[in-house]
Amino acid sequence: MAGNFYKLKCQDCENEQVVFGKAATVVNCAVCGTVLARPAGSNAAFEGEVVETVEAR
Ligand SMILES: [Zn+2]
Repeated sequence: MAGNFYKLKCQDCENEQVVFGKAATVVNCAVCGTVLARPAGSNAAFEGEVVETVEAR
């Protein structure tokens, strides 16, 4: 069972980036490097604002 993807908005530069919901590593904003998600148990903890949930196929 694959996890979902989430579109997160960076709180610093408003870049929108799709992040895997079960990210195993820290995910940084591609533009400014701010942490968008960090691993927390089985699911990632999101630092940015979730603007959209992208269902896995
Ligand atoms: Zn950013």
